[in-house]
Amino acid sequence: MNKVILIRFNEIHLKGGNKKYFVKLLYNNIKNALKNSICKIESIQNRFIIRDYEDENSIIEKLKCVFGIHSISKAIEVKNDVNDILNYVSTLKINTTFKCDVNRADKSFPIKSNEFEADLGEIILKNNEDAKVDIHSPNITVHIDIRENGYTFIFYDIIYTYSGLPLDENRNGLLLLSGGIDSPVAGFCMAKRGLRQDILHFDSFPYTSPQAKEKVITLAKKIKPYIGSRYMYICSMTKLQEEFHVNCKTEYAINLLRRSMIRIANELCDRYKYKTIITGESLGQVASQTIESLTTTNAVAKYPVLRPLISFNKDEIIKIAKEIDTYDTSILPYEDCCTVFLPRNPIIKPRIKDAENEEEKIDLKNLINLVLNNMEIIDLDKE
Ligand code: ATP
Ligand code: MG
Repeated sequence: MNKVILIRFNEIHLKGGNKKYFVKLLYNNIKNALKNSICKIESIQNRFIIRDYEDENSIIEKLKCVFGIHSISKAIEVKNDVNDILNYVSTLKINTTFKCDVNRADKSFPIKSNEFEADLGEIILKNNEDAKVDIHSPNITVHIDIRENGYTFIFYDIIYTYSGLPLDENRNGLLLLSGGIDSPVAGFCMAKRGLRQDILHFDSFPYTSPQAKEKVITLAKKIKPYIGSRYMYICSMTKLQEEFHVNCKTEYAINLLRRSMIRIANELCDRYKYKTIITGESLGQVASQTIESLTTTNAVAKYPVLRPLISFNKDEIIKIAKEIDTYDTSILPYEDCCTVFLPRNPIIKPRIKDAENEEEKIDLKNLINLVLNNMEIIDLDKE
């Protein structure tokens, strides 16, 4: 009889011929998430088992960040032996309503599920004066999961996690992370679909403060367990923004800045082989997030720009930000480069041609090269 943590997955089951690949991917991601925890990880048919561990709660917290896991249970493992199972179940202390739920994945197990549920229920009733069977809404469900590997897992609770797909090194993107509420949530949402991401942040020092940069590094560390980021690129937009400010129409300032952000992201995608760019934009939230603004930004993108929050309301975004613990950091009051040289009346319906005309007024190519040449790279594994 052993104490173990049982891990289940769901969407991977639909992957047909690719299932093996996804199971291996998930196994590796679990291994990586638990690399600093004392434990052993075993892969059995349709489940993973964590055994010989020390800190159960910290392991469960780490597993909650791993996409592709559907649910987790703290369980007791016994052999697929009728007496072993009955013996263990007879030690349970239950003083409320309950039911037994048998899953007989091992078809060679000699008793059918509903018969065995009745046998187990009887034993519990015999040993617990205050226990009462309630099939429909019991306070406790005793799960008995009889697996093909010769072992049975017995547990009460199922902790549901985020499901989704496991992060994959071959499916990666570059997250444009500001200090705001939205972009960390955008990264989380794309990671849920298996997209591993590194991080690109723009500052505008000395118009933005060192604390503003520290805040974004803190956010990066908070989302790292979810999005699997290794590198954070920090680019200074100061010179570029000053040039826009002096030479170009003020109402185009944000638009021009956005297009430059995407151009820089393009270069990093070329250089480091990211396949897509992710932003936290949400339709209509601000002037730079109208269809026309997004169109003007998209016009310079060489890679698909994914905007998972495009249809989200602010309260929906805040709910997730609180859940992934980025909200309190995001609301710290430091300025972002987008708020520097902010036009009083930003253009709501910019046109690509007009943006291009404004860009011709400065030496954009050289300015962007300057940004890239001065880029700082942080290895988040060493932070
Ligand atoms: P957020 O809450 O994510 O800052 P927002 O509602 O404030 O978003 P904007 O400031 O218009 O909206 O930014 C839209 C998106 O552009 C952000 O979600 C982010 O992906 C990207 N972005 C904005 N500022 C920066 C920055 N300083 N560095 C990197 N990306 C940025
Ligand atoms: Mg912002």
